Amino acid sequence: MDGRGAPTARGLRYFHDTLLRAYGPQHWWPTQDAEQPRFEVLVGAVLTQHTAWTNVERAIASLRAAGPLTPDALLAHADLPTLIRRAGPHHVKAERLRALCRWLLAHGGLEVLDAWRTPALRRDLLTVRGVGPETADAILLYAFGRPQFVADAYAFRLFERYGWWFGPRRYEQLRQAVESVGPATAAFYDELHALIVAHARGRCHKRRPDCAHCALRDRCDHGRATLQR
Ligand code: SF4
Repeated sequence: MDGRGAPTARGLRYFHDTLLRAYGPQHWWPTQDAEQPRFEVLVGAVLTQHTAWTNVERAIASLRAAGPLTPDALLAHADLPTLIRRAGPHHVKAERLRALCRWLLAHGGLEVLDAWRTPALRRDLLTVRGVGPETADAILLYAFGRPQFVADAYAFRLFERYGWWFGPRRYEQLRQAVESVGPATAAFYDELHALIVAHARGRCHKRRPDCAHCALRDRCDHGRATLQR
């Protein structure tokens, strides 16, 4: 049995492996552009803020139809808000995309930033307008291949129910709690985050989680309590 209240190395591995058996490899990050997949991760990470992924896909398809998906091309689009209007508050997100493009160009591009150490890169990313910890960690993980845990709302929901998180949702605390016991490989966090999203959407719903058919039910506090009633 896992220790309650915080993930352990063995517990986290069990959690990851059980979800992997249940859902299979998720092949994240889902990109449409084989030429610029890393830049598309940055664009998608901004567009997906508070927005369903299907709308992000439509916005990216619209951007791609309007020209190459590059920082220069995005900055040149006078109608950028219109192109991404499917992805939520489009004027705000257009400004955030422009800020991220300017940051990327000012730093010499992705290949130059590859040489940066993760803490410095994360700190700098967090100075970009509209880039918070969750967006920064998604970019670090999926565009730069850094072993970062994305402590999003799905992760909090699952960990709270599982018995690994109590009290206020503090992003940095959860990220560090997971990274302190998880393997230092991007592949692990890549799959873990994608599996958490798959499980939260497919089984551990916000309302009425389907505990009876959940692969984690034997070790999940909420699942065991629910199924014993
Ligand atoms: S047992 Fe229920 S609450 Fe626990 S992870 Fe599975 S679906 Fe979510």
